[in-house]
Amino acid sequence: MQVTSEILERAIEQLAKLPGTGRKSAQRIAMHLLKQNDDYVFKLAQALVDLKKSIQHCSVCFNISDKDPCSICSNPKRHNGTICVVEETKDVYTIERTNEFQGRYHVLGGIISPLDNIGPDDIRVKELMDRVHDEDEKVEEVILALNPDAEGEATAYYLNKLLKHHEIKVTRIAYGIPMGTELEYIDEATLSRAFSSRNTF
Ligand SMILES: [Zn+2]
Repeated sequence: MQVTSEILERAIEQLAKLPGTGRKSAQRIAMHLLKQNDDYVFKLAQALVDLKKSIQHCSVCFNISDKDPCSICSNPKRHNGTICVVEETKDVYTIERTNEFQGRYHVLGGIISPLDNIGPDDIRVKELMDRVHDEDEKVEEVILALNPDAEGEATAYYLNKLLKHHEIKVTRIAYGIPMGTELEYIDEATLSRAFSSRNTF
């Protein structure tokens, strides 16, 4: 293939590195951007630069934020004593969309995975324990909201072992049956977990 524009080729090459984007989609996006007006493309480019340059981690919960502490940690309406532990920032966004949780978060920044050589020291376990020990935080409950897979289980087990020596409640979100799904289509592991975390009606 003969390349007629090195600049276009460079843009395609970078776009193709985005998750879920192959060379074909990258090509389509690059062509789409070329057709847009300058204002839009410059705004997009600036947003990407700001994303990398100006965003920081909240020093309390390690959520991604424009300011420190983040808007959740600095909101006086959020319960101080409840910490919801999640693996990544995207999980904070997912839970926030439900408007169900009014406490604060702790973003581990990873998950314990012996197969990948990721241990407790590689994620923010120490920082979580510091918060539990911090008198100002008055932590009464830690909710573990980790993914229901082998790594999530191992991490939840490890954290529960550490936390149960403190006078706080350690809970886990219930894993169950997705809304709108019929029982016959549920896999056995999900169904058995749904049974074990059943609630009183
Ligand atoms: Zn925060």
